[in-house]
Amino acid sequence: MASYNPPIDDIAFLLNDVLDFDGQMQTLPGYEEVSAELAVSVLEEGGKFCAGVLEPLNRPADEEGCKLENGLVSTPKGIADAYKAFVEAGWAGLSGAPEFGGQGLPRATQILLDEMLSSANLSFGLFPGLTRGAVEAIEHHASDELKAKYLPKMISGEWTGAMALTESSAGTDLGLLTARAEPVGDGSYKIKGTKIFISSGDQDFGGNIIHLVLARLPDAPKGVKGISLFLSPKFLVEDDGSLGARNGMSVGSLEHKMGIHAQPTCVMNYDGAIGWLVGEPGRGLNAMFTMMNAERLFVGIQGLGIAEAANQKAASYARERLQGRSLDGSRGPVPIIEHPDVRKMLLTGRSFIDAARALAIWTAMQMDIAARHPDPAERRRADGFVALLTPVVKAAFTDFGFETAVISQQVFGGHGYIREWGMEQFVRDARITQIYEGTNGVQAMDLVGRKLPMEGGELAGRFFDLVKQDLQAASLVPATERIVAATASALDRLERTTELLLAGSGDPAVAGSAATDYLRLFALTAFGWMWAKMAASAAAADTPPKVRKCAVADFFADRMLPQTLGLETAIANGATSIIALNQDLF
Ligand SMILES: Cc1cc2nc3c(=O)[nH]c(=O)nc-3n(C[C@H](O)[C@H](O)[C@H](O)COP(=O)(O)OP(=O)(O)OC[C@H]3O[C@@H](n4cnc5c(N)ncnc54)[C@H](O)[C@@H]3O)c2cc1C
Repeated sequence: MASYNPPIDDIAFLLNDVLDFDGQMQTLPGYEEVSAELAVSVLEEGGKFCAGVLEPLNRPADEEGCKLENGLVSTPKGIADAYKAFVEAGWAGLSGAPEFGGQGLPRATQILLDEMLSSANLSFGLFPGLTRGAVEAIEHHASDELKAKYLPKMISGEWTGAMALTESSAGTDLGLLTARAEPVGDGSYKIKGTKIFISSGDQDFGGNIIHLVLARLPDAPKGVKGISLFLSPKFLVEDDGSLGARNGMSVGSLEHKMGIHAQPTCVMNYDGAIGWLVGEPGRGLNAMFTMMNAERLFVGIQGLGIAEAANQKAASYARERLQGRSLDGSRGPVPIIEHPDVRKMLLTGRSFIDAARALAIWTAMQMDIAARHPDPAERRRADGFVALLTPVVKAAFTDFGFETAVISQQVFGGHGYIREWGMEQFVRDARITQIYEGTNGVQAMDLVGRKLPMEGGELAGRFFDLVKQDLQAASLVPATERIVAATASALDRLERTTELLLAGSGDPAVAGSAATDYLRLFALTAFGWMWAKMAASAAAADTPPKVRKCAVADFFADRMLPQTLGLETAIANGATSIIALNQDLF
């Protein structure tokens, strides 16, 4: 069985030839010394850690799962040691702020490490990923005192983070949450309530666990305006930074789940846990959104990571497995990779993966531009693109990621259904990415209901203009005709559909009925855009991915982009057939 091979060549191609990483990053204050060469050499080492340490643990840890005994959580054998090695090697602080001890590398570098972590061991990758999300919220919204006390050890990875939003009656609709926080009188609060589904809610790595908890103050109004955010550590922290008494929180139980078995998903009881406000009272969701946007990009990357690992294994199996005869009937048994249907499955996955990676890097670079560019207009422009693309990355990457896990499993036939090959684990692990961090249906509603109307509808228009410019540039390079023409047609459909939705934006039934199809139409067009850029760069360059890129771009044009025809038609057919049926008749 082939082991995971970190996609370093592809990363180097994207950073150097397609996305002008050096040119974009080196204009940003603080990133003058950053280069693709540096990023690739760092990621090469990161890839070795993922492939050498984390991937071998993936299946045994899935088999063993996490345990809760006498109130103590234990992760499967090897996970705690791997986490310590990860921290000692400095991986936890890769993109952390240098003022708190981080290495300050750009987000694009971070997401590529995240992709490799997700390919190798998704359960493991959630520990540092959630910690980083908590760090973002604290960095942007907490007091200087809290930042100084908590951030250095969280950025180094010595302490981990968790986010505690969900309650049994409050999932998507956080306005329904009931956890309460009462002022103690010394600036701290006592938090009471039960949260469910809390990833990394506890672990056995040592150190501390910093929970960011949503709760209501005693006089808070109902709904989302009454929610505040609190930092509550597992162990209280003394003034000298050492760990003090256990705080009033405990793990009620571990959730029994379909996948990510090496990740402790906890029911957390907060029984008067001491916490401190992060941000202003009643503005907790605002503070939490800082964390959630970073986490949404991260979850999209998880879909990509699993797809890459599953597709690699499927391609390798398809080259070795002998079944059936060659197309002309003259040879047999032949490797199943000769059969068009198997090739189509592999190409479907590959054509999503490469485009998604390029789009993820582009989006991460926009995040860095939004945070650092000296020109406020450039910052605003980049920030708009990030807002528009965040739900697309989260939902489309995880939908296509899951689909890629399933078709990669399909390449194995019955062997894919048997545990020892590891393909069914990809399917089980990938499934959660479509659900947590806001379900994909809710991401689609965010795109249609909130992001499209931004700037009076002009934000999407600016994005479409950018795609057109790049298609125009790509069309000048020979051998890009098919991908450029197919993407231009998809963009026409996307623009027409966007106008239709903006015209009907007063009607929630129209938006709600169209949202998921619209997000897929948007994503396919954005992937086409990235394929046109990659094909143009590959045709001009002489790098290893050249032949593969041009061939897969043609496949994407011929076999994937036509899906946009059906999506446009479905959306144009309107909401009536979705709304008409009486609830009792379902
Ligand atoms: C393994 C796992 C780990 C998790 N980790 C965390 C964590 O670390 N921290 C945390 O706080 N939470 C966590 N969650 C919770 C997760 O984020 C929620 O499960 C998710 O947001 C959905 O909420 P829900 O389960 O209550 O579903 P519901 O909100 O009940 O939704 C049910 C269905 O209705 C749809 N729906 C709901 N409202 C709308 C609407 N307004 N418009 C259209 N459709 C709608 C949804 O899309 C979904 O299909 C985790 C969950 C799991 C399973």
